[in-house]
Amino acid sequence: MAITEEVYAPRTKPPVDPEDLAHRELRRDEFWRHIPAFADIDAHTFHSHIFQMRHSITSVGKLMRVLENRVSNDFYQEVAAGLQHAPMSVRISPYITSLINWDDPYRDPLRKQFLSLRCEQERDHPELHLDSLNELGDAPVAGLTHRYPDRVLFLVLDTCPVYCRFCTRSYAVGLNTEDVEKVNLRVNRERWDNAIEYIQSRPEIEDVVVSGGDMYQLKADQLEELGNRLLNIDHIRRFRFATKGPAVLPQKLVTDDAWVDALTRVVDRGRKMHKEVVLHTHFNHPAEITGITQDGLNRLQSRGITIRNQAVLQSGVNNSIETMRLLIKRLSYLNVQPYYVYFHDLVRGVEDLRTTLDDGLAIEKAIRGTTSGFNMPTFIVDTLGGGGKRDAHSYEYYNRETGIAVYISPVVKPDTFFFYFDPLWRLREDIQARWQDDVEREKMKAEAIEAAR
Ligand code: SF4
Repeated sequence: MAITEEVYAPRTKPPVDPEDLAHRELRRDEFWRHIPAFADIDAHTFHSHIFQMRHSITSVGKLMRVLENRVSNDFYQEVAAGLQHAPMSVRISPYITSLINWDDPYRDPLRKQFLSLRCEQERDHPELHLDSLNELGDAPVAGLTHRYPDRVLFLVLDTCPVYCRFCTRSYAVGLNTEDVEKVNLRVNRERWDNAIEYIQSRPEIEDVVVSGGDMYQLKADQLEELGNRLLNIDHIRRFRFATKGPAVLPQKLVTDDAWVDALTRVVDRGRKMHKEVVLHTHFNHPAEITGITQDGLNRLQSRGITIRNQAVLQSGVNNSIETMRLLIKRLSYLNVQPYYVYFHDLVRGVEDLRTTLDDGLAIEKAIRGTTSGFNMPTFIVDTLGGGGKRDAHSYEYYNRETGIAVYISPVVKPDTFFFYFDPLWRLREDIQARWQDDVEREKMKAEAIEAAR
């Protein structure tokens, strides 16, 4: 049969909207010069990890000395008052400080992640516990959580290059605050020995998440020693180093040669042993990714290091289709796999950052197809009380009115129901009142479990 000309007529696509390529525009300007304390700092100095670490902002006083009159006194007072009810102390790198829009700090998505304002704080959810994922309850030795059969979470230290105000591990990470006295998880040989001995004694463990705190803070020799000790365990097939570092202090990847070389040696040795060692990082907003980020990530990738991202869905930070789409596209452009987007855990003092389950499901639906399937993140709920991570869509029951979602977790704890709760400030006032009444609250939970059966 003759094929008509019409069948072969070329179907030209309309030219691409330049907006669709915005993910490729990475800042390479001297964006720190608008900060009074950094106005005279040249690019070479600013983009060194030593400068970044030495000039971290660790108190309201230091914030005032760095910003001077870029923000109002009211704003400083809001920060000081917010800190009194915060589970995390302050630590922000000059890099992140310089990327915040100080002309409008109340609405800035980066500021919201690191500085709590009193006027934004919402009352904590009544079901909140400090260790909401019950990591301590599943820890056979200090700093090692063994929840899933084949893998463990190893918290190797308790410090980070920045302190995120929403940290799930606020029970242990960072300095004590007015509100929270922390569990001690400092680098300690005896603690490491005990954890590694436990891993060696359990042949079913094949996978280790090395976290903290943040392994960015390990010295090069500590990183290499730890990596080699894990690789030496026969039944360990893979592990990931979890770090927020590339998102908040990318300069380290460019200028800390000893650290990058140590990481590379561990990854190379793993590859020769047919084991996988990768980096999991934590970008939440596209503005965290600039030209220096690209330089740092390119350096790791040129050494064969795989990088994946785990973001947290946060109100006012990335809970819009446009922002999440841009984040996914920008990460994909840099060949960082956008692996997970977590719904926000219940953490003391940061209820304002949480979204409803419904918000995240709508965003997921809207962005799927933005790029290849292997670069589309799975939206994850880490269920309360230690049920582990579940695909957000897999709830047994979800009541949008009471904000209660119920999950099961057959591998971790069969026959147990686990909850996730929407933030109360997103519910109707009469439902909020029911949540504040102990009897009504238990009734709503019991009804949800009954409906889930
Ligand atoms: S870097 Fe990670 S461990 Fe450290 S404060 Fe932030 S979320 Fe918590």
